[in-house]
Amino acid sequence: MPRVKTPSQAEISSNPREFALLAQVAPMHSAQYVEADSQVLSEYIKLYGQPSASVPEGEISFADFAAMFSRQPLGAKATNNNCIGYAAQDKSGVLAPYSFDRRAVGPGDVRIQITHAGICHSDLHQVKDEWGGSVFPMVPGHEIVGIVTEVGEGVTKFKPGDRAGVGCMVDSCRTCDTCTRSEEQFCPKCVYTYNSKHPDGTLAQGGYSSHIVVQEAFTLRLPDNLPLDATAPLLCAGITVYSPMKHFGLDKPGMRLGVVGLGGLGHMAVKIGKGLGLHVTVISTSEAKREEAIKVLGADDFIVSKDAEQMKAATSSLHGIIDTVSAKHDVSALVNLLKVDGKLVMVGVPEVPLDLPVMAIVFKRALISGSLIGGIRQTQEMLNFCGEKGITASIEKIPIDYVNTAYERMLRSDVRYRFVIDVQGSLVL
Ligand code: NAP
Ligand code: ZN
Repeated sequence: MPRVKTPSQAEISSNPREFALLAQVAPMHSAQYVEADSQVLSEYIKLYGQPSASVPEGEISFADFAAMFSRQPLGAKATNNNCIGYAAQDKSGVLAPYSFDRRAVGPGDVRIQITHAGICHSDLHQVKDEWGGSVFPMVPGHEIVGIVTEVGEGVTKFKPGDRAGVGCMVDSCRTCDTCTRSEEQFCPKCVYTYNSKHPDGTLAQGGYSSHIVVQEAFTLRLPDNLPLDATAPLLCAGITVYSPMKHFGLDKPGMRLGVVGLGGLGHMAVKIGKGLGLHVTVISTSEAKREEAIKVLGADDFIVSKDAEQMKAATSSLHGIIDTVSAKHDVSALVNLLKVDGKLVMVGVPEVPLDLPVMAIVFKRALISGSLIGGIRQTQEMLNFCGEKGITASIEKIPIDYVNTAYERMLRSDVRYRFVIDVQGSLVL
């Protein structure tokens, strides 16, 4: 069994990527060394290390371990910046390598070496400035998971080697009404993970990057039993559908929930809805995802929104609907599916306003509302729930230089069901 001498903070800071890999292959800590499982280590060497490296016997230094995993930096390492990522420089939305500086770890900060980052349709809306007001250069990504490599003064929840996650927010005022009830997403001073500014005016940059420094209060603990890669999408897609189910009381076993759009958010709504014991109906634009929705994701019913007969047969059948559609679509057809007093919650954010079908709403006493991600406390609750139920995203893992193609495919709804960037495998400083 290979044993690696426990690195000092200075050694971790000079090889954070390698430390993050060590934490994944050797979770058992003692004061002097960590013990790696030979088979796991061998797999990691194949994926992330030197092709020529072999699994060592006995005890080795951290420097030797790091050498096994050294990789060529991404592009020419022409700068002294401490972070590298992929950024859009303007609203053409094309992403390319970009280096920049993150702040040093200060009081209350947690430094996370990013292992994986999910790709959300909001990333695409924002790099293309579809919602207006985008600030560039923009490093997107708000479904972030990784390994803690350093903590600042006063941090109690995390230590180097822990797994950690960051979602759509990295700071807020912490004193306003919404902050005090942990609904920080509505704080007027909320700092979103990217396309947003810190109070000192610096641009916040997201998770398509090698590391991030975040306040402990905005850092989430990840359930031990869930793999890092498929957990990343819970940080946005997961909480965005969990929160309205809880807030609008669409969480009682046996309730009938509709999910419109079977993409990243939609497929998480199916899994979380089933985890809560709901009867889940998917409403999709074509037959293409029917079999998988039912057999793999566990949906109970599947309706094609373009098929008038199928839509008619489901009239007045649902207590609530979560609408995740990212483009213009017909809302009145959805209100028709609601029972009296049913609730339609919009979470998808098309770039144009939708028509409000007043007649349909009036005749159903329907409630139409919206919902924005979820607060930090509820995000932790959702992660714990997913840990208990074994719920993760269904992902297609990609190297970071595939991101522009991934965006094109996402726009065609050609992803089952979330792209996740293998940051540690494809983005080396
Ligand atoms: P996604 O993976 O691209 O999924 C969107 C799904 O919507 C597609 O898979 C497709 O499902 C359906 N769709 C796409 N175009 C359509 C059209 N013209 N008509 C009808 N259905 C269509 O995107 P996502 O990452 O899940 O995000 C979905 C939306 O939620 C985006 O607008 C995103 O910005 C927003 N969002 C909001 C929040 C929030 O806090 N409110 C958080 C995250 C994301 P089918 O193939 O099944 O038809
Ligand atoms: Zn998102």
